[in-house]
Amino acid sequence: MRPSILDLVIIGGGHAGLWLGAAAVRAGLSVAIVDPSSPGAARAAPADGRTLALLGGSRRVALAQRIWADIVTVGHPVRRVEVLEPAAGARVEYDAASLGLDLFAFGVESPALRAALAGSFLAAAGETAWVTGSLAGWERDGASVVVSLTDGRRLRGRVLIGADGRGSRVRDLAGIDLTRAAYGQAALAFIVRHDRPHGDAVRERLRPAGPLALLPVGPRRCGVTWVEPEATARALAATAPDELLRRLDRETGGVLGALALDSKVAAWPLGAQHARRYVAPRMALVGDAAHGVHPIHAQGFNMGVADIAALLDRLVAARRADRDIGAPDVLLAYERDRWWDNERRLRLTDGLNRLFSNDLLPARLLRGAVLRALDSIPPLKALAVREGMRAG
Ligand SMILES: Cc1cc2nc3c(=O)[nH]c(=O)nc-3n(C[C@H](O)[C@H](O)[C@H](O)COP(=O)(O)OP(=O)(O)OC[C@H]3O[C@@H](n4cnc5c(N)ncnc54)[C@H](O)[C@@H]3O)c2cc1C
Repeated sequence: MRPSILDLVIIGGGHAGLWLGAAAVRAGLSVAIVDPSSPGAARAAPADGRTLALLGGSRRVALAQRIWADIVTVGHPVRRVEVLEPAAGARVEYDAASLGLDLFAFGVESPALRAALAGSFLAAAGETAWVTGSLAGWERDGASVVVSLTDGRRLRGRVLIGADGRGSRVRDLAGIDLTRAAYGQAALAFIVRHDRPHGDAVRERLRPAGPLALLPVGPRRCGVTWVEPEATARALAATAPDELLRRLDRETGGVLGALALDSKVAAWPLGAQHARRYVAPRMALVGDAAHGVHPIHAQGFNMGVADIAALLDRLVAARRADRDIGAPDVLLAYERDRWWDNERRLRLTDGLNRLFSNDLLPARLLRGAVLRALDSIPPLKALAVREGMRAG
């Protein structure tokens, strides 16, 4: 049975809400997750073409939080990274073994990861901890927060978590403002089967129109994230599959051999945004509700995982000290842990996209020089790997 006051009421059963919920229950907190989809729908996970790279740092968090066993079954290890800048003919390659690592990342299909996390949460918390519904409003009430759903139901918790994605209603209701950047680009996302082995390598081509990445998500299966100006991406998404695959083959130099489409093709408009605050009295934002980035550096959800790790550490420390987990200093400490680190990553990602997604001569020269330096100076290369793999 649900306690009358839960520790956490999490709005949003996407990757961030489910990961936090699954880990928080294992850490001894009582949790309910509110999401418009049913638990059955979250576990069914129809492929939507989107994939993501869970970096080594996120794996370490999942291991420490005892949810890795539920995730590893849906991921494929990435042991090599190849970055190519075709215009400058520059190339940099990383090999995990030569850097003393077992892998760099895990490639996963986004819906499969959500399904795995839903299973992990439900196994630990039970079906009644999933509330199928939508947030209507919330208000503080002394030492708790009362959350109202659109169908009139109410939940009471010590802390409200906004894990409700980029258009977060929790954030809006808290009056928290955003900084935003629009790129005029969209990412085509789909899965291909292919007849040449991918060799556990993620391949990213930094083209002037936008990056194109091939991420292994299974044996002879790769997720494609292909960034183009928005109108071009929309036109490509509507192209016949044979023609789309011919274009992909050309763009990637035929590296995967014969291709077959293995999902629908969708175009996702790209933009960056950052909430000016992550917390309000008895409320904290995590994941895309707090920040959204361009996919060029595969950071998006990995920044969310770092949020979750930091927030849960603060909550559990307060509980162990027999303190109120929703006390202002507990939540403010979480914001201090994460805001600047995420801002730095947003600026880095934004800078990389502006440097690589344009055809101006100075940018072409600079990016060729950057990649050549990365490839030829071993300490720089090791630093780039360490930075890239950190969760958050
Ligand atoms: C093309 C593309 C490529 C990407 N590649 C990568 C990558 O390589 N690596 C990486 O780390 N990240 C990547 N990302 C980003 C990653 O997909 C997101 O960061 C991640 O999915 C965000 O998860 P989230 O749970 O914060 O938000 P969401 O997935 O948006 O989940 C929000 C949830 O909240 C629910 N919700 C919304 N409003 C309400 C409400 N009022 N009441 C109740 N529930 C509500 C929604 O139904 C949803 O289930 C990529 C994204 C795109 C588009």
